[in-house]
Amino acid sequence: MQSLWNDEEAAGWQSGGGDLGLRVYTSRLLGRDKTLVLHGGGNTSVKIRERNLYGEEEDILYVKGSGWDLETIEAAGFSPVRLRPAVRLASLAALSDPQMVNELVTAMTRASAPVPSVETILHATLPHRFVDHTHADAVVTVTNTPGGEARVREIYGDSVVVIPYIMPGFDLARLCAERFAAEAGPDTQGMVLLNHGIFSFAEAARESYERMIHLVDLAEEYLKSRNAWNLGPWPEVPAGPAPVETARLRKEISRTAGAPMVLTSRTNARTLAFARRDDAGTLSQQGPATPDHVTRTKSVPLLGRNVDAYVQSYRAYFERHAPHAKQPKTMLDPAPRVILDPDLGLAAAGRTVRDAAIAADIYEQTLDIIERAALLGGYRALPSNHLFDMEYWDLQQAKLTRGGKPLALTGEVAMVTGAASGIGRACVESLLARGAAVVGLDLNPAIETVFDRPDFRGVVCDVTREDDLRRAVAAGVEAFGGLDMLVLNAGIFPESRKLADMPLDEWRRVMSINLDSNVVLLRECHPLLALAPRGGRVVVIGSKNVPAPGPGVAAYSASKAALNQLARVAALEWGKDGIRINTLHPNAVFDTGIWTEERLASRAKAYGMDVESYKKNNVLGVEVSSRDVAELAAEMCGPLFAKTTGAQVPVDGGNDRVI
Ligand SMILES: [Zn+2]
Repeated sequence: MQSLWNDEEAAGWQSGGGDLGLRVYTSRLLGRDKTLVLHGGGNTSVKIRERNLYGEEEDILYVKGSGWDLETIEAAGFSPVRLRPAVRLASLAALSDPQMVNELVTAMTRASAPVPSVETILHATLPHRFVDHTHADAVVTVTNTPGGEARVREIYGDSVVVIPYIMPGFDLARLCAERFAAEAGPDTQGMVLLNHGIFSFAEAARESYERMIHLVDLAEEYLKSRNAWNLGPWPEVPAGPAPVETARLRKEISRTAGAPMVLTSRTNARTLAFARRDDAGTLSQQGPATPDHVTRTKSVPLLGRNVDAYVQSYRAYFERHAPHAKQPKTMLDPAPRVILDPDLGLAAAGRTVRDAAIAADIYEQTLDIIERAALLGGYRALPSNHLFDMEYWDLQQAKLTRGGKPLALTGEVAMVTGAASGIGRACVESLLARGAAVVGLDLNPAIETVFDRPDFRGVVCDVTREDDLRRAVAAGVEAFGGLDMLVLNAGIFPESRKLADMPLDEWRRVMSINLDSNVVLLRECHPLLALAPRGGRVVVIGSKNVPAPGPGVAAYSASKAALNQLARVAALEWGKDGIRINTLHPNAVFDTGIWTEERLASRAKAYGMDVESYKKNNVLGVEVSSRDVAELAAEMCGPLFAKTTGAQVPVDGGNDRVI
């Protein structure tokens, strides 16, 4: 393991923010290495002397606030806690976690700062200015083995104080303070917390950081020297299960979770090799590498796809441990968060794409830890009572009653065609805003980058090609686990053409894009929509031209009318599957790719109007935007339209020919 320290970068941070600036800098260096910390794991601090309002000098502990990641932390992410009251807390015989949080929050010098880390008292009691804490893979690999403590002492001698496992929080802080005072010597550079992680500390930012790197490097070298480092190579294996099988698993997980869940797959040679190990059952059912992970991954993954069996064993685990807790506990949903399966490799479930991705990232890392520990002599995680304490500690339980109402489409997955621009793009925005994960299809390669966020997957796709459509559906299922909503939007509006001059190839091209593609897509998506936890929904973007066609647009009008009839038949056929299909008929939506300035001006002129009047040429005299259409499309997927199928709703400002 290499130090990432750079003198020039460090000087910049120091001149901008002094010791706190350097604290931000080396925290980010730790955060950059995924084998040190992942997703909110680890924490750091610095003690700074400051003058208060009365002109008195005070020591302030700047410690990582909850909700911040070391990789991206800023000065504002550190909570300024008065050091003296924080240290004094460690002298109490007992303190509940909620009390501890209350004491620390009321000892802060900035009311708007985040809640300080649960390991704040531990940071406070260590005498050094800079304190760094990680859950380094190499260290937890060594300590999660039989004889782990002896190995740690062999690796580090008296350069670290060794702390037996105890849950993070007040008791751990007190134990560390005692042990450190009793055991630290002149050579002490850090502290190893068995089955948890490692601390390093020093007077200077660089030294504390580089001690961390050095200590972790020693553990890595030890693993190498015991032939417990190199993993793989893993044989290449064929693609994962059929989309419908993944969607079925997602439905089961959602059912047990009591709400729709996203399921993200990481099917690759590495994850498949682990899931296919003969001893995957023993290795994977031990527990996480560090107890911090339990709230993200639950204590063990589901091995295979028997969700009911997992739920039974989760209930047994809860009933075994809950009676021993100090406070009464409410059972969390029993659905698995990580799935290991010989065909799927690794998959992770979450109410949001972010939650699922965090669980997947953590468990991918855990696979390496488990396999290296196995090479070293056997992976042995904490006993389940400790995992239970962590999963069900007071502060986690408190979050259950907080946390606002989720967005209407949270945990659900939508697919939108023609999503790179116009109405399609607006539909993506409206669905994302309601909490859905969205797969966007478009011929335009810009679709891959049009929304740069984890809950959107853009797939380049020619909707006239069946293979392309099948591939896009599979990509969506791999990313998010299934399909709940389908918005059929892609379409073309050719130049005006009199029927007498209609070439057959032009007619066929319009039919192929506006109609045939949707037949294929509906067919391919039907089994997935039938597995949607809340029932599938299809929204068809039709046209005012269905009820009121115009001269010169035969192909377009006929294609949309046929699509309309297709949707009505689908509504009849699929009602028994819980799928509802509704159609929107927009008109005169001018903020789309079809309408250039010139085209708009020429059409307005043809009707003897100026552009402004032409845009508002409807009963209400309003302009209809892509967003208006998209918002209604998204609402049609929501609870307002739960009892509606086969409906056609205009969104056109009122058209006298239609009315
Ligand atoms: Zn920790």
